[in-house]
Amino acid sequence: RADPAVSVPDSGDVAAWWPHPGPASDKYTRGVVGIATGSATYPGAALLGVSGALAGPTGMIRYAGSAHEEVVRAHPSVVAAPSVADAGRVQAWVCGSGLGTDDEARTTLRSVLATALPVVLDADALTLLIDGKHARDLRRDAPVVVTPHDGEFKRLAGEGPGPDRAGAALKLASWMNAVVLLKGDRTIVATPGGEVWANPTGTSALATAGSGDVLAGLLGSLLAAGLPAERAAVAAAYAHGLAGRRAAAEGPVSAPDIAAALRPTVRDLTSR
Ligand code: AMP
Ligand code: MG
Repeated sequence: RADPAVSVPDSGDVAAWWPHPGPASDKYTRGVVGIATGSATYPGAALLGVSGALAGPTGMIRYAGSAHEEVVRAHPSVVAAPSVADAGRVQAWVCGSGLGTDDEARTTLRSVLATALPVVLDADALTLLIDGKHARDLRRDAPVVVTPHDGEFKRLAGEGPGPDRAGAALKLASWMNAVVLLKGDRTIVATPGGEVWANPTGTSALATAGSGDVLAGLLGSLLAAGLPAERAAVAAAYAHGLAGRRAAAEGPVSAPDIAAALRPTVRDLTSR
């Protein structure tokens, strides 16, 4: 169904929005993104989130969580600490995937939500938000982007998105007072204010474990670099889709391949 209210971004939009360092930028003014994902049980989620963020525009990545040793071993430029409280200053947080739902995970989510910073909530963070039958209004002044796939959407909203994905995402966005990035073969970004975009770059090559973790890391980097939440969500989904296509041209795709393909994708998308 062609819905005239749904915008479709093109590469020119994304290129125009993408943050670039100015001549006098330093690593801090480019933005610092905090990744609070993964756990001792799921260190891979942490590594994938970081690898998505590495393709973004920020000057620094901080990691907070129990996978901190693995993260630094794999990515020496990341500044890592065991918890959000010890992480130091960041401009945006990514929280959720591979976190689990134990007390430590709950503390992590609470710490991130207690900041006045933009946050991306994904995966286990979404599960932790469900309070009774539905997710509640997060009552935050700073932006929140939630990134559910259909199953997570169903848990958040109490029912699946159905055929009208744009309408369903808009409803949840207004209900949660959050930007909703509803993932799937027709990825939608919806805002509490009633704006809605459909991502045109999706590919089923993205349907692979850890794919969403890479997306969330990239999205966090764009937020930390200062993009408004809805543009960060639209741009991240757009680049992620293109990276999936680029990776698929090489052979079977796993999530690290998407992260690796993001760098040339971002170069091609944003070179002026
Ligand atoms: P996750 O399930 O959290 O790993 O996220 C999966 C990622 O792959 C999201 O970015 C989805 O939009 C994307 N994805 C999954 N299946 C498809 C599909 N059939 N077509 C396009 N994108 C997909
Ligand atoms: Mg996921």
